[in-house]
Amino acid sequence: MEASLLAQLLNAIGSGGIRIVDLTQPLETGTPIIQLPPDFGASKPFRLEEISRYDSRGPAWYWNNFSCGEHTGTHFDAPIHWVTGKDYSQNATDTIAAERFIAPACVIDVSRQVAKDPDFLLTVQQVESWEKQHGRIEAGSWVLMHTGWSKRKSASDFLNIGEDGAHVPGPHPDLVPFLAKERDVVGWGSEGVGTDAGQAFRFNPPFPCHSGMHGSNKFGLASLTNLDKLPPKGAVLIAAPLKIVGGSGSPCRVLALVQGRA
Ligand code: MN
Repeated sequence: MEASLLAQLLNAIGSGGIRIVDLTQPLETGTPIIQLPPDFGASKPFRLEEISRYDSRGPAWYWNNFSCGEHTGTHFDAPIHWVTGKDYSQNATDTIAAERFIAPACVIDVSRQVAKDPDFLLTVQQVESWEKQHGRIEAGSWVLMHTGWSKRKSASDFLNIGEDGAHVPGPHPDLVPFLAKERDVVGWGSEGVGTDAGQAFRFNPPFPCHSGMHGSNKFGLASLTNLDKLPPKGAVLIAAPLKIVGGSGSPCRVLALVQGRA
């Protein structure tokens, strides 16, 4: 008898025919978080507080309290995160249909361009030329921008904030409606601290990735890593936020399933 589909999947994972690539950054006290001007509310950094560790507070058990903003480390942005996405039904971490957390990924490598220009913006033209090589971005796909940014290990290099704001690559404002409407993607993923470019507060509209993606009921993933281990097409992402009731996002473990041995 032919093995069931799930047994085939497990066999492939067990034999290495399908690899699991962890796209998640470690979550710790030093995890960089987005910096907004002081007029705005601030997201708290990750904190871990020990409750007990096999001691008088709990002789046989170790556990911690943790706290952080929803948008900390490798995390998921839900449509309700932005004012443009606030009126969709099923737009929060607890109400999004779970099927939408599993989706294929298109990975666009711009690491060479970003090495020369931290303000690099991915354009429609560049995506269309990627599609000529790798095929059209299918509806329901993630588009992940592989910049190499996650190799910046110190918080100051990663956030890259100058006197005129942050300098981090992202999507060109024109690319967002193209991906959301003409390609009907499930969302956009970046290696930077947020989904938008560092200078996106100056763009028209400001923060076009947040505004346009969430305004089209699409998602975001930020602070991804290991995108260099993914093929341009063919990986499947599992990216599920915590089921925070009414949540705008949450840290999440993002896993990619990739066919073929490393
Ligand atoms: Mn976010």
